Amino acid sequence: MRDDIDLHIHTTHCGCANETMSVPALLERCDELGYRHIAITDHYNGEQHDEPQKRIQEDLRDYDSPVAVTWGVECTIADAEAETHTVTEELVAEFGYDFVIGGPHGRYEATEPDEIIETQHRLMLATVCNPIIDVLVHPWWFSRREFEQGTMSWFTDMSRIPPWHVEELAAACVENETSVEMNAGGIIHHPHFEQQMLDDYREYLADLCERGVTFTLCSDAHDIDRLEWAKDAAGFLVEAGVPDEQIFVPEPSDLS
Ligand SMILES: [Zn+2]
Ligand SMILES: [Zn+2]
Repeated sequence: MRDDIDLHIHTTHCGCANETMSVPALLERCDELGYRHIAITDHYNGEQHDEPQKRIQEDLRDYDSPVAVTWGVECTIADAEAETHTVTEELVAEFGYDFVIGGPHGRYEATEPDEIIETQHRLMLATVCNPIIDVLVHPWWFSRREFEQGTMSWFTDMSRIPPWHVEELAAACVENETSVEMNAGGIIHHPHFEQQMLDDYREYLADLCERGVTFTLCSDAHDIDRLEWAKDAAGFLVEAGVPDEQIFVPEPSDLS
C-alpha cells in the first residue's frame, strides 16, 4: 500500500487552501505523517494565479525537508466547447512544472443528468488526451454547491454512467499514458457522497485497473489537518484491487 505519498496538495498562496497550508508547514506535516514523496499542485485557472505560483516556487527554493517534492500544477477546463485547459505548453515552460494534473470542475451549462454525464465524459477524454497532462483529477467530482442547489442531487450512485464510457476512458488513458487520480478529499470525504456512491466508485476504479490504467493518490488537502486523508486514498485503491505496480509516482523535482 502506498500510504507514503500524496500527489495533489494545495497551498495558502492561491487563496483556495486556507492559511494553515504554508509551504514550510505542509512539508513539515507531510514528514510527520511519514510521507516520502509529495507533489505540490496548486491551481492555475488564469492570470490571477501567476503571482501566487511564483510565490510557491520561491518558497520551494528554500526547501529543506527529507520529503521528496514534485513541482506541479492543477488545471481546469478553459473553454468547454473548444475542450481547452487553463495550463498550456507555454505555461509549463515558463514555470518549469514537472507534473500537470487536471480535469473538469463543473457541469459547463449542462442541466439534464444524461447531458451532464456526456459532458463530463467528453471533457475527461479531452483531458486524458492532452499531451501536457499527466493525471486526470477526481473523475465525477462535483462541488458541494451543485448538490445543495439540486442540480446534482440525482447523483447518488454511478448506475447512469454507460459501461462504454468506462471502456473508452480506460483505452484513452492507456494510449496516452495518463493516470487516473484517487482523490480522498473530493470523493471519499465528499459531504454528499454516501455508501452506494463509494461502493460504485470502488468498482469503477477496479474496472479501470483491469483495463490497464495506472493511478495516483492524494488528499487534495486545502487544510493542514486534511493531509492525512491521502492514506484513505491509498486504502481505497487497495480495496479496489489496485496493486502498487499500477500506482504512478512522478520523478522528484530539482528545486534549487
Ligand atoms: Zn480539482
Ligand atoms: Zn485540487
